[in-house]
Amino acid sequence: MSASTTPRTGRTLAGLTLDGVTYAVPDGDGTRVLLDAVDLTVAPGEVVVVTGPSGSGKSTLLAIAGLLRRPQAGEVLVGGEATAALSERRRTRLRGDHVGVVYQSANLLPALTAREQLELVGHVNGVGRSDRRRRADDLLDDVGLAGAAGRVPAHLSGGERQRIGIARAIATRPRLLIADEAVSALDVSIRAQILNLLVDLQRSLNLTYLFISHDMSVVRRVASR
Ligand code: ADP
Ligand code: MG
Repeated sequence: MSASTTPRTGRTLAGLTLDGVTYAVPDGDGTRVLLDAVDLTVAPGEVVVVTGPSGSGKSTLLAIAGLLRRPQAGEVLVGGEATAALSERRRTRLRGDHVGVVYQSANLLPALTAREQLELVGHVNGVGRSDRRRRADDLLDDVGLAGAAGRVPAHLSGGERQRIGIARAIATRPRLLIADEAVSALDVSIRAQILNLLVDLQRSLNLTYLFISHDMSVVRRVASR
């Protein structure tokens, strides 16, 4: 695929292509093929939802698409760039520039406030103190948590913690967002709120989405956005 640019930001839109991606895991005396020459294209700005029962290889697919794991065969292209032959360092850079990941649990640092969790992303990326504070506050605003900036995870609800996980995933302005069971661990009563947030962000930031869930009600909600 070829990369295209958006006139609004001038940034390359990161689409995603999996081409013949194969992955097998040891299983007793033999092996079990989880991904058998998988082809998948997610065009820039497109939303693709992947579903399947527990243990069917969804998280493995996600880890490969997010450049966290290498396929045993096949190619992954992010924003048109082939990644199989790239060094680990270059893959890490590409991931940092283009890919955000939301997991089932936000895994926040217990001692840091909501704002500090997000400032840390800027710190790691060499952003200056005042800029990273401003960016953290903008992100908290984006996810509806402006009032909770000074609270530590123990004083946040599950939904609020996941909002921070989402803010952290978009902190580096990725074009591709991958969500792995992003609402599965949440109380049923707040799943809709968090799904709505994810769908709204997809639209407002024009994100490319690879959304993975075993839950058909989640799949239907995202697919009918
Ligand atoms: P899903 O996200 O659909 O539940 P996963 O991708 O997490 O599925 O895992 C699929 C299956 O592969 C699971 O049964 C898991 O135990 C197995 N598996 C994943 N990675 C390895 C590995 N490195 N070695 C052995 N088994 C693995
Ligand atoms: Mg999984």
